[in-house]
Amino acid sequence: MSAPSALDLALLRRAFHLAGEARARGDRPFAAIIARADGTILAEGLSAQGRSGRGTLAHSEMMACQAVIDAAIPRAALRQATIYSSGEPCAMCAAAIFYTGIGRAVYGLSAGAILHLRNASPATAGLSLSCRAVLETAAEPVEVLGPLLEEEGAAPHRGYWTGG
Ligand SMILES: [Zn+2]
Repeated sequence: MSAPSALDLALLRRAFHLAGEARARGDRPFAAIIARADGTILAEGLSAQGRSGRGTLAHSEMMACQAVIDAAIPRAALRQATIYSSGEPCAMCAAAIFYTGIGRAVYGLSAGAILHLRNASPATAGLSLSCRAVLETAAEPVEVLGPLLEEEGAAPHRGYWTGG
């Protein structure tokens, strides 16, 4: 696993900021950014599972991946791009990252940290298959880097999951 660059950390912090915006608008506190290697942002995705009303599949990575597909970003460019997720991508989103053609994934909170914040366990929430377990089966390699900056990444979640 390579070390994160200063750009990686800056974009991850922006994802944490956007996670707070998602929460503020009534959705879950998750966000994802797809950026070129030079830092140019191609798409930003916020969870749209709550008040935005896009439903249970509207995880932030799904929203960001759909945005680059809708924008017809060439696959060659996406192979050189990175998706920055405020929290570790779930198995569904890991598959979506692969099928979108993105070459690299960087995330903040680990799946375990998210479960802890939710006061949940693998037996009560989500899929326990990790994004690495999904992506190591990919025909084209997808580099995965994380968890990173978990203390900062937890901030948008504080007080959100109480009662659930
Ligand atoms: Zn997901």
